Amino acid sequence: MNEHYDVAIIGGGPVGIALALALRDNDLKVALLEERESEINTTDPRALALSYGSRLLLQRLGAWQTLQNISGIKVIEVTQKDSSGHTTLRADDLNVPDMGYVLPYTALHAALQQALHQSDVDCLYGAAVSDLSASREQSTILYQYKGAQHTLTAKLAVVADGGKLLEAKHPPQITDYGQSGIIAHLTTDSPDNGVAFERFTAQGPMALLPYMDGYELVLTATHEQAQTMLNWDDTTFLQYLQGHFGERVGNFITIGKRSSYPLRLKRAPDISFPHTVLIGNAAQTLHPVAGQGFNMGIRDAWELAQAILDHAPDGIGSAAMCAAYRKSRNIDRNAGIRFTDGLVRLFSNDLPLMGPLRSAALNLLDHIPPAKKFVARRMMFGANG
Ligand SMILES: Cc1cc2nc3c(=O)[nH]c(=O)nc-3n(C[C@H](O)[C@H](O)[C@H](O)COP(=O)(O)OP(=O)(O)OC[C@H]3O[C@@H](n4cnc5c(N)ncnc54)[C@H](O)[C@@H]3O)c2cc1C
Repeated sequence: MNEHYDVAIIGGGPVGIALALALRDNDLKVALLEERESEINTTDPRALALSYGSRLLLQRLGAWQTLQNISGIKVIEVTQKDSSGHTTLRADDLNVPDMGYVLPYTALHAALQQALHQSDVDCLYGAAVSDLSASREQSTILYQYKGAQHTLTAKLAVVADGGKLLEAKHPPQITDYGQSGIIAHLTTDSPDNGVAFERFTAQGPMALLPYMDGYELVLTATHEQAQTMLNWDDTTFLQYLQGHFGERVGNFITIGKRSSYPLRLKRAPDISFPHTVLIGNAAQTLHPVAGQGFNMGIRDAWELAQAILDHAPDGIGSAAMCAAYRKSRNIDRNAGIRFTDGLVRLFSNDLPLMGPLRSAALNLLDHIPPAKKFVARRMMFGANG
């Protein structure tokens, strides 16, 4: 591996790879360092809901074309338990073929990785970055590889590691919702193909995302409740879900392996030193209530690539470039944070006065098409879209 790069990306998750793809074949020397030994993450069980806007970006990156077994979302039904409040978002009303798509994280990762194989990016797997520092001229990255320490320098170091490397020196602002997310695949006897369900309950939001022969479940609960639920047998779990979703998707029949994640909003501080930028979960880790995390991360990657390509080689990583990029992402980033954080706070409690208010808010949204369009477009394309 050469030792000086134009851009060095720390982390080969979906967002880091998206950036590498957006920079390929542009006469830039780009390195990607990933601590996993294997190229593709085959163990992450989560499914992702991708927005239509993310599909367009993945197409430009050459990764959408190889994806298989994707389920389209034509309609999103948003309801609140124990109230008449509801709103429905439809792709037809927005003149798009689909509101979004559901697919496994591992499939997305594999498709991005496949596209990366055909690029001129230097990829190093099994390279765990242990330190990052910036001087006036460049960034310096220390990493462990095959039992030895190595160094590389770059005009711009992009931290796309999900948020671990800089946490100790630059602690993020954390909102702990006291919740865990449980995910699992399940089947029902009459799935409503193409319809995603977002249901708000006093315990927290729940989503059913249409996928293949059934649904991907994302359920939020307090950590204690989640632990209890993970120990339930399948029948008890399915009865619980039936109680919350009613007959909307028929009877729940089977549920696969359940996994859980702690849910927090993490927002990295505005890093003001040059030659360093954070993207994806390293910049902001969102509650998955509205499926916005990767969708926001791929927009980070795309817009950063455009900023890099717009600069003369000498300007890459300059304080001015890094500051301009951070400023350009602020509106979208803050809007995404406010949106998901607001949904969790507004819809995940059982305060007596909040029930009618939430119900009214959903019904009002349903009856004001421009407002509905605004929300749907924000979910699909972000605030800069
Ligand atoms: C339950 C759940 C459901 C979700 N659902 C959705 C959804 O429906 N839609 C959506 O858009 N988003 C969703 N998200 C969010 C989405 O998963 C994340 O936003 C996305 O995975 C972030 O990608 P990333 O590449 O930034 O980080 P990661 O996926 O965390 O990748 C980081 C990479 O960096 C590597 N790395 C870490 N440290 C180092 C180091 N020191 N050196 C080298 N490499 C390193 C890691 O091995 C990893 O490969 C969900 C999240 C959860 C928890």
